[in-house]
Amino acid sequence: MDLFSLPDFDGHEQVVFGHDRATGLRAIIAIHSTALGPAAGGCRMWAYPSSDEALTDALRLSRGMSYKNAMAELDFGGGKAVIIGDARAHKTQALFQAFGRLVDALGGRYITAEDVGTSTADMEQVASVTRFVSGLKRASGEVGGDPGPKTALGVFLGIQAAVRFQLGRGLEGLTVAVQGLGGVGHPLCRLLAAEGVRLKVADARAELAERVREELGAAIVPVDTLLEQDADVIAPCALGAVLSAQSIPRLRARIIAGAANNQLARESDGERLMKAGILYAPDYVINAGGIINVAHEYRGGSTEAAVHAAIKKIPERLTAIFERARHESLPTSTVADQMARERLQAHRRA
Ligand code: NAD
Repeated sequence: MDLFSLPDFDGHEQVVFGHDRATGLRAIIAIHSTALGPAAGGCRMWAYPSSDEALTDALRLSRGMSYKNAMAELDFGGGKAVIIGDARAHKTQALFQAFGRLVDALGGRYITAEDVGTSTADMEQVASVTRFVSGLKRASGEVGGDPGPKTALGVFLGIQAAVRFQLGRGLEGLTVAVQGLGGVGHPLCRLLAAEGVRLKVADARAELAERVREELGAAIVPVDTLLEQDADVIAPCALGAVLSAQSIPRLRARIIAGAANNQLARESDGERLMKAGILYAPDYVINAGGIINVAHEYRGGSTEAAVHAAIKKIPERLTAIFERARHESLPTSTVADQMARERLQAHRRA
């Protein structure tokens, strides 16, 4: 494999492969850009079938973090870590300490946090060996901790903005179908239900869907039919690549707005959505609430009110993207990338 010719290689500054014999750690850390500051982005643990697939994920996700942090106006660059392994079977405290040593060896060029398959408790282990970590447990009143609810808040506000733009109305009485009811999907459902939204939900873990049905009266739908549900909004909050040449023709909702990273299987799927008359809220713009929370925690000295104020800018940013996309007849995903690159370049010139 030639790293520098891979389709997802995008001038990444550094890619580190880490192995620890004692704990079985196999990890990749990709630093896409430190132009705006240290590369910040979570650590995903996933049973990748091959290290090639883990590398592709790390390259794509870290570029996404550069764009996400630039669009969230944070003074952080973009990076991401992946640990190859089954999060339910292979987690040990020692494994996360070994990962923490790998992060530490980068001397602060990369700052980690939790992501799919990793938790605040795992980050506590990382923090026992390095200070370059965020998303830690916090005493009440302190900024930080699990970013999931903050991501959910940003997604909720983003759905409101998308509905206002596309349908010219508020949320009450609409139907939103939420795919994935984990750290983000569940609190998102609570916020939506409080606004009088009807929920359709699915999770690969049936007990999580059952919990949301009991708590919020959501209708459970089969996992493989969630995307094609009759709903006003689809909120993908599970894994990426759900919007593809196969799935887009089957969509019935007019808005896609959810937390999952890399929702488009290919860049061209942004255009496919536009041609189908579906408004897509670019994933890394709408799901920035978590990284905003992590950034405030890491820098220290912030308040919950400041975090909320920063998250409340997400709907404004989305509306600016929607308007420019309409004006220039471009997919919203293309416009978001353009705006992120403009911010990175403006900073390099400054
Ligand atoms: P999570 O692991 O807590 O929850 C994901 C849920 O999706 C799990 O309950 C899982 O069972 C379910 N799932 C997996 N495949 C599914 C499928 N095909 N259909 C339905 N459900 C399925 O993760 P999370 O923290 O809630 O994050 C969700 C998504 O949002 C991820 O893509 C993540 O990268 C992204 N994201 C999360 C944050 C955050 O703050 N946690 C921030 C930004 C982006």
